[in-house]
Amino acid sequence: MTNLPSQARVVIIGGGVGGTSVAYHLTQMGWKDVVLLERGELTCGSTWHSAGLVGQLRSDFNLTRMMKYSTDLYRRLKDETGQDTGWREVGGLRLASTPQRMEELKRQVGFARSFGMPLEMISTAQAKKMFPLMNDEGVLGAVLTPTDGSIDPTGLTMALAAAPASSLTPKSPASPPRTARWTRSSPIRGGSRPRWWSTVRGSGAA
Ligand SMILES: Cc1cc2nc3c(=O)[nH]c(=O)nc-3n(C[C@H](O)[C@H](O)[C@H](O)COP(=O)(O)OP(=O)(O)OC[C@H]3O[C@@H](n4cnc5c(N)ncnc54)[C@H](O)[C@@H]3O)c2cc1C
Repeated sequence: MTNLPSQARVVIIGGGVGGTSVAYHLTQMGWKDVVLLERGELTCGSTWHSAGLVGQLRSDFNLTRMMKYSTDLYRRLKDETGQDTGWREVGGLRLASTPQRMEELKRQVGFARSFGMPLEMISTAQAKKMFPLMNDEGVLGAVLTPTDGSIDPTGLTMALAAAPASSLTPKSPASPPRTARWTRSSPIRGGSRPRWWSTVRGSGAA
């Protein structure tokens, strides 16, 4: 392997949205010796072809809080990194077609409001007005989350990799962001073509 440190405090395997997010958050928390290894190109796993829909309301309190944190991050990430994430805060609707689902939505709205999410229970007619293509047959009501949206998963991953905690320069064919230093390394498993790429983030890194 060339240009890779022989050891690191943290080695993250996988340059999808998950791995780059872990690298981003660790370096934002001040961790200096973080290495991310990617065998192909950033986002080449499931990330690049995900739909990128961001709905925050979940059945679990902590998941909903995490999704709220994510949208707060998506809102500021472009300014923070200079990398466009394609974030569009267009709002989202969740529909209830049974009384039980309606009850569940009301409960979710209750706990989500407790930590400041701006949610609204709306009628089926209101939902239909917002989204006329919707089939409203059997729909009993809906929740509107104005801060839901969509994002470009590739742009998001590149932005997470480009965050200012890093002082990196790109060398990968995956065109990672200009602020990231991507170090080409030899294949770990056989093959004539280099397949592994890494980024070393944080000021204490090699
Ligand atoms: C069609 C589709 C639509 C989706 N729509 C949505 C949506 O609307 N909203 C939403 O939130 N989620 C959606 N998802 C889910 C979302 O895309 C995934 O949960 C997310 O991308 C997973 O990211 P990841 O980083 O965990 O995995 P991946 O993106 O798969 O990244 C894993 C990376 O690890 C690398 N790797 C694997 N093994 C090794 C190794 N041994 N050494 C080095 N590198 C390795 C791979 O090359 C890959 O780049 C969708 C998924 C799909 C498939």
